[in-house]
Amino acid sequence: MAGTRTGEFKELISPFLKSKIASAAQQFGLHSQEVRALTRQYVKDPVEDVVQANSRRRHYESEVTLSFEGRPLMGIERMYRRTALIEPTTVCAAHCRWCTRAQYPIQTMQKDDIVHAARYFGSPGQCDDLDEILITGGDPLMSLPLLGHTVHSIREHAPNIQTIRIGSRVPFQDPRRINVDLLALFTAYPDVRFEIGCNVNHPVEFWPESVEAIRKLQDIGVRVYNQNPLLKGVNDDLQTLMDLYGLLRQNRIEAHYLFHAIPLRGMSHHRTSIAKGLDLANKISSCGEFSGRAKPRYTVLSDIGKVVLYEGSIIDRRESDNAVLLKSGYQLQDRMRWNPAWEKPDSAIVENDGTMMVWYLDGTDEPVAEEAVDSLYHAVSAGR
Ligand code: SF4
Repeated sequence: MAGTRTGEFKELISPFLKSKIASAAQQFGLHSQEVRALTRQYVKDPVEDVVQANSRRRHYESEVTLSFEGRPLMGIERMYRRTALIEPTTVCAAHCRWCTRAQYPIQTMQKDDIVHAARYFGSPGQCDDLDEILITGGDPLMSLPLLGHTVHSIREHAPNIQTIRIGSRVPFQDPRRINVDLLALFTAYPDVRFEIGCNVNHPVEFWPESVEAIRKLQDIGVRVYNQNPLLKGVNDDLQTLMDLYGLLRQNRIEAHYLFHAIPLRGMSHHRTSIAKGLDLANKISSCGEFSGRAKPRYTVLSDIGKVVLYEGSIIDRRESDNAVLLKSGYQLQDRMRWNPAWEKPDSAIVENDGTMMVWYLDGTDEPVAEEAVDSLYHAVSAGR
């Protein structure tokens, strides 16, 4: 399950991924960049247990619970006007070591919690604003009955919802789950626009089984897009990113966000500096090596929401804790309107025009520690 009960985010690698790591070791060599790209994503590194003073457990200050009809809405996040998020389950096929939800508490929604949420999405106070739901978790494709119940409840109680997005790494972690029953669920609702955010981070992950799973989804009209973090030692170099975005384009997967890896507990070894990401984003935006239709937006996940980095987005730097001050277009009064329980985090500052700026922890460009890399290789070669 993505998330933790004890503070420890357990290692979980699907049999499919284990077989692919072993094949990559045979094909490219145990110390290859391809094997490292997989082990750094999935094998637990001892440095995750090092807790730093500024470590945090959540990527947004959005856990403030909404209520509807006098009852708390479980498993719901609301940050934006048009989109709300629902997390039916925290189960995943594998645990990505850089997961935004690694430190979240584990929870599975009850069926009546899902109906309650769907009724909120379609209620008179919300239906004029909301038209899109993101189903995430965990991985919603891990429980077809729960996903079916969620989609059905949204259709029944919130006809204002036109787009249902699903965040899933199943095509790249356990692709046999993209089966006829799942495809039948999507085709049963022809008036809904289904989109899947698939999250592939390195060219080595374009395995034939995964490409076929993506193709099956696309063939029935599901749109597939990608949002990938920039991960140190995985994809933080120009050639890897150019190859990745070229493959996304070839496979009809829309490139959406390139995220700066988030400042969560146990994540610092995955995080580059913002400046390195900006340099790479600039280079891939004008390299001419792949289609201009496959260029992502370089974005940070700050305490107040996503901030796409443009010229002038970074307005100050604080050396004492390696933080940058980011300009956003988010209005405090809008946020309070969409989520009355939302509390402005201490990191946010309201400007005279009502928009918020936010302090965000930068990463570093220290090289990947070789001992850590060796321990990851050892774990793979031991068949763990
Ligand atoms: S599959 Fe998604 S939710 Fe699960 S651990 Fe990976 S990134 Fe997190």
